[in-house]
Amino acid sequence: MPPLLSPLPRVAPRALRLCLGRRYLSASAPGGDFAVIGGGITGLSTAWFLYQRSQTTDQKKHRTKITLFEAADRTGGWIQSKHVDVPGGRVLFETGARTLRPTPPGGRAVATLIEELGLKDDLIFGSKDSPAAIRRWLYNGKLVELPHPKLGLLDLGMKLFTQPALKGIISGVFSEPQVSPRPDNVTDESVGSFVTRRMNKAIANNLTSAVFHGIYAGDIWQLSARSLLPSLWHGEKEYGSLVLGSPAIRTLWEEKDEALQKRLFETDAPADLVLRHNMASSSVFTLRGGLEQLSRRLEEKLLQKGVTIRKGTPVTKLEPSEDKLRVKVFTKDSAEPQTFTNVIATCPAKTLSSMLTAPSGTPLVPLLSTIPAVTVNVINLWYPDPHLLPIRGFGSLIPQTTPLEDNPCWALGIVYDSEIVQGQDSVPGTKLTVMLGGHWWDGWSEIPGEEQSIRFAKETVARQLGITAEPAAVNFSSQKECIPQYTVGHTARMAQAHHGLKRTFGDGLSVAGSSYTGVGVNDCIKAAYNNVVWNMATGLEPFTVKAKYRSINMPNPWE
Ligand SMILES: Cc1cc2nc3c(=O)[nH]c(=O)nc-3n(C[C@H](O)[C@H](O)[C@H](O)COP(=O)(O)OP(=O)(O)OC[C@H]3O[C@@H](n4cnc5c(N)ncnc54)[C@H](O)[C@@H]3O)c2cc1C
Repeated sequence: MPPLLSPLPRVAPRALRLCLGRRYLSASAPGGDFAVIGGGITGLSTAWFLYQRSQTTDQKKHRTKITLFEAADRTGGWIQSKHVDVPGGRVLFETGARTLRPTPPGGRAVATLIEELGLKDDLIFGSKDSPAAIRRWLYNGKLVELPHPKLGLLDLGMKLFTQPALKGIISGVFSEPQVSPRPDNVTDESVGSFVTRRMNKAIANNLTSAVFHGIYAGDIWQLSARSLLPSLWHGEKEYGSLVLGSPAIRTLWEEKDEALQKRLFETDAPADLVLRHNMASSSVFTLRGGLEQLSRRLEEKLLQKGVTIRKGTPVTKLEPSEDKLRVKVFTKDSAEPQTFTNVIATCPAKTLSSMLTAPSGTPLVPLLSTIPAVTVNVINLWYPDPHLLPIRGFGSLIPQTTPLEDNPCWALGIVYDSEIVQGQDSVPGTKLTVMLGGHWWDGWSEIPGEEQSIRFAKETVARQLGITAEPAAVNFSSQKECIPQYTVGHTARMAQAHHGLKRTFGDGLSVAGSSYTGVGVNDCIKAAYNNVVWNMATGLEPFTVKAKYRSINMPNPWE
């Protein structure tokens, strides 16, 4: 089976290398002493790709040493799967990420990684034809089902004409082609403003805000359209209309994604055809033991391959050596720094920013501290009755305009876990996850604690789904500042942060992870891959060049 990262020179097509040129490729020597900061999925996969690169023929001649520093006493970061005893068996609760999308190239790269790590037999899939893939709900005082092509035209018409929450879709779609593209001097705007400008405010408030609650727990009037809707942002300029351009927009591939997809295609990865077929026909996938199985296996494999993993060792400070050829890493447990040729920081940007201070205490790359993150309280509930849900589907999301009297617990949504994937629990039952907070709690000095959050979760489930039974198992986690928010201007700020890092550390310190180029697990693994494969100097290079897209019709990206 070809590893995802070998042999290195074939990774990028020649044209792409020429076009990105030296801007992407740093001057760092082969081999070296690498420090990875953070043992979340980005840090673990960065260490894995570094190890893989060290095994390629041209690199094998040189010595590579990899040390991963993790502040906590476990790796995995926001990926954490808990097994809980319930009457008659055990169930699995995810306190962070729960399912991944198979969409290539990220999903395909992750499937390849899972295959390389020997975990493919533990994959479980949610079919594209399952109710969870087709049926999604909004809650704005009452449950409203969203249209889906598989539910048919009649269903679509009925919903669009009768549901007040879907008001504005028809007029928005028909009027959109007449809207002029944004002027050249608009370099970014909020997601809310973009959708309102192209369609109307009702769509932004009722639909878009609910979807963004589900992914970012964020406020569409703060989040950046350029960063979070990149192909639509590009498509508006390229095709003049999102509606008329939609067939082409749906086939757009960003250059780096195209290179990764080409690489996977050329190396026939993942190798297992059944796995590829399952991926192509699924809407989501995960692992039988939960997503933490992936981070645990990565840790195990890294240790086997001689990578040093220092858990419970927070990095406190980073300093360039005088010649900027090495980086000094200070940790809490030692007065003396260790030095490395390259450091890849995958901890949150704000934490990294606090490590980068001049002797006077002034921040060296202040823009890194400007990426805010929201807190989400996650409450997992399990009920022994497998038929408790009155409706079928993935879950329900709450639009930003839902009045407080209909959402007094500041819920973002409910995930119907037991509908989405089966095979993680040893007993049948109904499993739900309620997520509270996110941007609703912006500016709060105190947020609800465990007891209140569990009460809120039960109230939310009763209000939306009429479920008043007591759960047999409950798990509460308060995920502090867990989802970074790419607010308007993120791209420009990260371009400047690139220059700040480069000025201070030369090619010595690069960054990757959920603070920068996407919060999904697939995005994090892709960022780790790109960082290593492009041998990036700062990891923020993509923000300094205009993203290039090509429309490519790929009927089966899994072939
Ligand atoms: C509730 C929730 C649900 C989610 N659901 C999904 C989902 O269904 N699908 C999906 O794709 N994504 C989901 N995500 C997003 C995804 O889980 C995260 O974005 C991703 O796991 C982030 O990985 P990371 O390695 O970049 O960062 P992190 O997981 O934050 O890892 C960073 C690591 O750095 C360590 N660290 C911090 N400071 C230091 C220091 N000073 N020194 C050393 N180490 C340090 C931390 O302890 C941590 O382990 C969800 C996230 C949350 C919170």
